[in-house]
Amino acid sequence: MKLTVLGSGTCVPSLQRNASGYLIKESGHQILVDCGSGTLLQLEKSGNSYKDVDAVFITHSHPDHFADLLPLLHALLYAPNFHREKDFQIFAPHAFRKYYDQAIASILGTPDRFRIVLNEVQQTMNCGPVLVRSIKTVHSADSVAYRFECGGKAIVLTGDADYDQGIIALASGADILITDCSFPDALKVPGHMSAKECGRVAAQAHAKQLILSHLYPADTPDIDRVTEAAEYFNGSIRLAEDLMVIEL
Ligand SMILES: [Zn+2]
Ligand SMILES: [Zn+2]
Repeated sequence: MKLTVLGSGTCVPSLQRNASGYLIKESGHQILVDCGSGTLLQLEKSGNSYKDVDAVFITHSHPDHFADLLPLLHALLYAPNFHREKDFQIFAPHAFRKYYDQAIASILGTPDRFRIVLNEVQQTMNCGPVLVRSIKTVHSADSVAYRFECGGKAIVLTGDADYDQGIIALASGADILITDCSFPDALKVPGHMSAKECGRVAAQAHAKQLILSHLYPADTPDIDRVTEAAEYFNGSIRLAEDLMVIEL
């Protein structure tokens, strides 16, 4: 699997950190995880294309995680000289259907050239060659985390999540664990993990590599969060950066 960080940021506009988005590529299959505002452009900047996305997995119904889904589908429908035929799969928590019906389907209607398939998140799902697991997280009413497995490798993305045992179980032995690291420990808020909590999760899950993401701006340098996480986790820790690529 090949992972590209499209957005390591949050709802706060930033020239360095776009809102949440990640691309996982495996055997020609392309999976988008979250699609916050700006993701469509970030895909282009990363050398990928919205035209090739097979599926998108939404972690929860906060706009920094899904706002570019409408522009993405709009582009797939109306880009000149482009005719998509394969299905476009959306996997999202139950509550997302209401938004989809009211704010996407009501505008775009039903495409006649390809199908948009909205799937409600299950505990286990198949997406091309990738096995996907999910668990509910402590963040919002409908928030979930995802684990993507293929060829004996695993990438886990917590989405927005507070520290809890479910995240640790989902991340067990993960090759890459990407966590919500919204704030350094001194600014911890409920519903998001601090840097130290990210380190605790990675250590307790025996993850191989920890990537700190969903970074809200703070008064202290972002790199200090690596130092905080390292108090608990002695494996590899990196800050997520937009357009960073990790190959497994
Ligand atoms: Zn968020
Ligand atoms: Zn959120």
